[in-house]
Amino acid sequence: MFDKLSDRLGGVFDRLRGRGALNENDVREAMREVRVALLEADVALPVAREFVEKVTEKAVGQSVLKSVTPGQQVVKIVNDALVEMLGSDASELNLAVAPPAIIMMVGLQGSGKTTTTAKIAKLLKEKERKKVLMASLDVNRPAAQEQLATLGTQVDVATLPIVAGQQPVDIAKRAMQAAKLQGFDVLMLDTAGRLHVDQQLMDEMKAVANTATPQEILLVVDSLTGQDAVNVAQNFSEQVDLTGVVLTRMDGDARGGAALSMRAVTGKPIKFAGVGEKLDAIEAFYPERVAGRILG
Ligand code: GDP
Repeated sequence: MFDKLSDRLGGVFDRLRGRGALNENDVREAMREVRVALLEADVALPVAREFVEKVTEKAVGQSVLKSVTPGQQVVKIVNDALVEMLGSDASELNLAVAPPAIIMMVGLQGSGKTTTTAKIAKLLKEKERKKVLMASLDVNRPAAQEQLATLGTQVDVATLPIVAGQQPVDIAKRAMQAAKLQGFDVLMLDTAGRLHVDQQLMDEMKAVANTATPQEILLVVDSLTGQDAVNVAQNFSEQVDLTGVVLTRMDGDARGGAALSMRAVTGKPIKFAGVGEKLDAIEAFYPERVAGRILG
């Protein structure tokens, strides 16, 4: 994750730190390199531009350059700006309601939505001792409901029994009733995906959201698709009130552009990162830790 960016920035900052005194030109030169590094990491252009402007302004405007360790100070300013870019506020799930709390999972087909549903269910069960019920509302893709049931068995989380022919909104209603009657703390609704964003997908998703009024609507996107992931998030957030994003396949993403641009472009926090195919390969997304990792 972020390997290339980390290497590039490491080089820039080693040079900055290595010099005793810095002048404005040194900072501007370094920031030009930071901008190139961000763009190579596939960060959206306006996001990279704003980042560099903000950091430059702080670095040359304050007493940073006159300080004893100007290089160090600049790196600190970059670190803070990175944390802000990644979304500084806490990204915990909001499940503090009368049970069942409902988490609705949305996204395109192949993004890792069903796997992520099972991963989060496992996390909630093991880390927070929640009693979780999962239900698949995907009636379009053959075997989608069976796939969730299989994953449920693997992570030892209950799934709603399948009733052939039932439509998504009705499955959601049945799931809500079952969760309430059987005392589940959390209900996870895995909605249908499509290969592309289309109106039918959006309409179905809105109908389910209106019925279930979930506490969390999490969009699952593939980080390997880079800026496309950000565009998909933008599209979805115009249709439903997303509460957060899960970025999958971060394990294979050396660039990290989607993670770096997501918050600035969509205003939505990244809540989790998928880091592998195994069902425990998921991490809560903490901007400070990620920034720390990038800056080594
Ligand atoms: P869906 O169509 O969006 O429900 O996608 P699936 O959940 O069926 O996932 C598609 C494929 O992506 C599966 O082979 C998953 O194991 C894989 N996958 C999901 N999340 C991750 C991840 O974070 N890292 C890696 N390497 N693979 C993942």
